[in-house]
Amino acid sequence: MLFINHLFDLIFPSRCVFCGGQEISSPLCNACAENILLAPVRSMKLVEFNDLDGVIVACINNPRLRVAVHALKYRMYKNVAEVLGKKLSQALSNQIVFSEFILMPVPLYFLRRWWRGFNQAEALAKVVNKNTFIPLASDVIKRCRHTISQVGLGRAERLKNLQHAFIVTNENHLIGKNILLIDDILTTGATLGECAKVLKKAGAQKVIGLVLSHGV
Ligand SMILES: [Zn+2]
Repeated sequence: MLFINHLFDLIFPSRCVFCGGQEISSPLCNACAENILLAPVRSMKLVEFNDLDGVIVACINNPRLRVAVHALKYRMYKNVAEVLGKKLSQALSNQIVFSEFILMPVPLYFLRRWWRGFNQAEALAKVVNKNTFIPLASDVIKRCRHTISQVGLGRAERLKNLQHAFIVTNENHLIGKNILLIDDILTTGATLGECAKVLKKAGAQKVIGLVLSHGV
């Protein structure tokens, strides 16, 4: 799949949808991506998900961000992952003590990862790791079954859909640790909440979410 995407990009180079500037293989040029604004409110608590100690929201939800997230999720443009990962890193300053945390991306089910060619949350986590030096552990929490898309599901259905979807593969990595759980978009918080529940059960002390925006 990824190969087909790359081939498509070679044959049909795209222009930036905002400024029209020539930019091969990306719908958003670096200059326009840089203009995605950081969100003024940086941290929120989702009262219905007890195990999640908070969520840091990096960017203001706007058309540029939506194009960038779509590009990241469905076509994996490397420059988009770099810019969005940088935004996540910037949002972290003054929010947490870097040395006290471990980064973990919200996992995809292996078949989905294979089909898509990558995990977008992991791509973001790698950039945050590079920028902040917070250690990255991508293989501690896994998605152990396929779950249908959460889009269009109500709150209760989302929770049911995610029940028993995640497992921890190495508990030794978690006891007493603080986890920064990375995902692209926060909608109801059910995915982060379910991951946090499983991580806490396995011994994690604190679980904080880090997302690009709330409800794209
Ligand atoms: Zn542009």
